[in-house]
Amino acid sequence: MKDKTLIIIGAGVAGLSAGCYAQMNGYRTRIFELHDLPGGLCTAWERKGYVFDGCIHYLFGSAEGQPFNDMWQELGAVQNRPMIKHDEYQRITDGQHTLIVYADPDRLEKHMLEIAPEDAALIRAFCQGVRQFTRFDMSVMYQKPKPLMKGQYWGAMGLKMLPFVLPLLRWGMVPAGSFAARFKNPFLRRAVAQMFSWEEAPVMMGMSLLAYLHTGNASFPAGGSLEFARALERRYLELGGEICYKAQVEKILTENGRAVGVRLYDDSVHSADCVVSAADGRGTIFDMLDGAYVSPRIKRMYDGHMPTHSQVQISLGVKRDLSDQPHWVTHLLDEPVLVIGEPRREIGVKHYCFDSSLAPAGRSSVEIMIRSSYAYWQRIYGRRLYDTEQNQVSDIMINLLEGWYPGIRQDIEFVDEATPLSYERYTGNWLGSTSGWLLTKETMRMLITGVPKTLPGLQNFYMAGQWVEPGGSVPLAAASGRNVVQMICTADGRPFVAQSPN
Ligand SMILES: Cc1cc2nc3c(=O)[nH]c(=O)nc-3n(C[C@H](O)[C@H](O)[C@H](O)COP(=O)(O)OP(=O)(O)OC[C@H]3O[C@@H](n4cnc5c(N)ncnc54)[C@H](O)[C@@H]3O)c2cc1C
Repeated sequence: MKDKTLIIIGAGVAGLSAGCYAQMNGYRTRIFELHDLPGGLCTAWERKGYVFDGCIHYLFGSAEGQPFNDMWQELGAVQNRPMIKHDEYQRITDGQHTLIVYADPDRLEKHMLEIAPEDAALIRAFCQGVRQFTRFDMSVMYQKPKPLMKGQYWGAMGLKMLPFVLPLLRWGMVPAGSFAARFKNPFLRRAVAQMFSWEEAPVMMGMSLLAYLHTGNASFPAGGSLEFARALERRYLELGGEICYKAQVEKILTENGRAVGVRLYDDSVHSADCVVSAADGRGTIFDMLDGAYVSPRIKRMYDGHMPTHSQVQISLGVKRDLSDQPHWVTHLLDEPVLVIGEPRREIGVKHYCFDSSLAPAGRSSVEIMIRSSYAYWQRIYGRRLYDTEQNQVSDIMINLLEGWYPGIRQDIEFVDEATPLSYERYTGNWLGSTSGWLLTKETMRMLITGVPKTLPGLQNFYMAGQWVEPGGSVPLAAASGRNVVQMICTADGRPFVAQSPN
C-alpha cells in the first residue's frame, strides 16, 4: 500500500493540502504546477521593495481553538505566525457621513443607531445576527466529505447546526443589496449595499465574516498570502512530497474508465494509481478530460449562466506612510465615473501598513480592487489597447486618490495592474475567477448540498479546490484537499490520519 502513487494537478492551496494529507496517509505524491511558485491565487508579488498582496484579506481559522484552525495546524501554516486582527473591517464614506464597520457587534450597533435611529429594528436584527454567528462552527460541514457523512454524523452535525437554522434561513437567502434597500436612511441604504464586496453576497456571509473578525478567527496572517502558501509548500516537502514547477498538464490519461496518469505540454507522460485535479474546474473537465465524463448537471454548471467573480487590481507603491489612516475605505461617489466600460459609484482603497513586512519603512503598499468582466478585457487582449486601458484605469484611480489623499500623486513610485486575464494566465482559472463560483443566494444551495468531487464514469480521479466548494476561499480550498484524501483512504480501505508537525 505504501507505494500507491498520486498525481496532483496544481500547487494552489487545495493541491498543497491534498498533497500534505496524502503524504500523511502513506501515499507517494507528486504535484505538477504550471507556475514557478506555490499558492495559485493565494499569492503576492514584490516590486521595488513593495509587496502587493493578491489574496487574503481575512483567514478563517486564524485563531487557536476556533473553526478551521486545527486544519491549519495540521498543514503547518499558522504555527509561529502572528495574526493581525482588525477591530474594524472597513469604513464606507460619502464624504459627509462615514459608516465604520466595527467587527464588534455591540460597537457596530451603537454606531449604526447613532447614524440612523429610524432604522433601529433593522440594525438590531443585523447585529444580533452577527452575535449569533460568533458561535457558528462553519467547519463542521467540511470535516468529512459529504458522501462519507453517514446518518449518525448528519445527526451530530444537525444538532450542532440547530441553533443556527433560523438565522441561516433568515439571512442566507437575502442578498446584501436587497437588505440595504430596506434601510430608510439614504446613506445607510448606499453604504450597507457595499459592506460585503458585492451586492449579491448573502447577508449571512457578511455576518459570519464580521462574527469571525470579532472572535479573532478571520485575521490577516503576517507576511501575507505568498508566505502563507510557502508554509504549506514547506510542510508538503517535509512530509516527503515532490513538486514539479513550470509543468503544465495538458491531458489526464484514462484507460477503461480509470485515470492512469497525465501528459504534460512537453509531451512527457507520468503514470499514477490515482489523479487529483486541484486546478481550474472547467479546464479539468472539458480540456484535460475532453468533456468525456460529464452529466447534464455538470454541463449546466459550466454553461456560463452561473455567477463568478473577476476583478482588476491596481497596486500602488507609495512613498508615504499611511499607517495613521484607516486601512480600508470604500468611497461612495456623488457622480459615477466611467471605469472599464461601466459607471462606478463606489471605489474601495486599502493599504497594508498594518503589516510592516509589506513595504519599505515609511512607505505603503496600496490596492484598489474593481469588479470587472472577463469579456471586456478579452476583447482587447493582444492589442495596444489592452495596455492603454490598464493605464487609463490607473490614471482615473490616481485622480480620485488625489482628492482623498492630497498630494499623493507625486508620492506614487510604482503602479501595477492585474486584470481578469492576468488571473487566468497565472492560475488557469476560468474567466479569471478569484474564487470559483460566486456565493449568491443561488449558489448557497450548492454550498449546503455540496458539489461532487468525482466525475461520472471515471474512477481513481478526484477534484479539489474552489470549483468544487462554492464561494471558494483559502480554508474551503484546503478543506476540499483534505476531504478528497479522506475519500481516497476510504476507497482503499485504510483509516484517515491527520497530524500536526511536532
Ligand atoms: C483578490 C483575491 C482576494 C481573495 N481574498 C480571500 C480572502 O480574503 N480569504 C480567503 O479565504 N480567500 C480569498 N480569496 C480566494 C482564495 O484565494 C481562493 O478561493 C483559493 O486560493 C483557491 O485555491 P485553489 O487551490 O482551489 O485554486 P487556485 O489557487 O486557482 O490553484 C490552482 C493551481 O493549479 C495550477 N494549474 C492550473 N492549471 C494547471 C495545469 N493544467 N497544470 C498544472 N497546474 C495547473 C494553477 O497555476 C494554480 O496554482 C481571494 C482570491 C483573490 C484572487
